[in-house]
Amino acid sequence: MTVSWFADAHACLPLRGESNMDQLRRHYDSGVRYVSINVGMDMNPLAQVMTTIAGFRRQIAERDWLMLASTHQDILDAATNDQLAVSFDLEGALPLLESVDMIALYHQLGVRQIHLAYNRNNSAAGGAHDVVQGLTPLGEQMVEAIHAHGILMDLSHSQERTALDICELSGDRPVLFSHANPHALVEHGRNISDAAIKACAGTGGIIALNGVGRFIGDEALQPESLLPHIDYVVQMVGIEHTAIGPDYCYDDGISDRPEGLDPGYWWPKEAGYDPIRGLTGKYVAPEGLPRIAEGLAKMGYKDTDIAAIMRDNLLGLIKRVWG
Ligand SMILES: [Zn+2]
Repeated sequence: MTVSWFADAHACLPLRGESNMDQLRRHYDSGVRYVSINVGMDMNPLAQVMTTIAGFRRQIAERDWLMLASTHQDILDAATNDQLAVSFDLEGALPLLESVDMIALYHQLGVRQIHLAYNRNNSAAGGAHDVVQGLTPLGEQMVEAIHAHGILMDLSHSQERTALDICELSGDRPVLFSHANPHALVEHGRNISDAAIKACAGTGGIIALNGVGRFIGDEALQPESLLPHIDYVVQMVGIEHTAIGPDYCYDDGISDRPEGLDPGYWWPKEAGYDPIRGLTGKYVAPEGLPRIAEGLAKMGYKDTDIAAIMRDNLLGLIKRVWG
């Protein structure tokens, strides 16, 4: 293998505290030693988000091969000790209850990455599948607090207007797309514009490429289908701004969706989602990561470049932001 281990900017377990975290063994066995996992989206009530965090924290503490990472050094230590370092991410501002103070609290609980709108507009920001809306005054306060607390400012699921606003407000404080793909390659509302890619890189940030079948344009989910997306970002803004966040969602067959949820609201049919179920589980699997590394080597990428894309750029961003 060209890279000794990988860092994954975003994955999901079913959002229940008792979701068996042994599922992450597949990440571990595929060579991943750091992954950010989702603990709540805009559609999840606070009670679900909190019990999920509580259960995940307990389960991590119970397993000697898992570690809840708070610092960059924690991730390096986990890799040395053959552990999988995990931190949490929040997908949307609604679990912040319009209170900027919640950001410090989530940081205490292990959240190290937050984006502000999950597909739909809210009081802080604009989502990818909604009418044009930029960052609101509340959203501006949240961006400032996210930076101030050493949390990664994520732009995924945001719409272009909001993403550009966040980049402008952030200046040289780096932001990231933890799971997003170039719209120029696959026309889908969740994919991102060249302007957003450049703006993100302009902060010193990174774009981590997503592995959702319909966003990469390959429902057969061949890991190699991610290669043109990686290469597109590399050609546009440089290797140093490129990473991976395949968004693999474990599914144990038990629904984690809140009662009364309207999937068509969060994953609109007109944006190409399943009209009944919304986003259905089709993602490039963690087992595909070594094939992505091998594919980059076949394209002529040097070992150091492959390591940068598959691990080191994300770790470098974490070192700068988490402190
Ligand atoms: Zn997501």
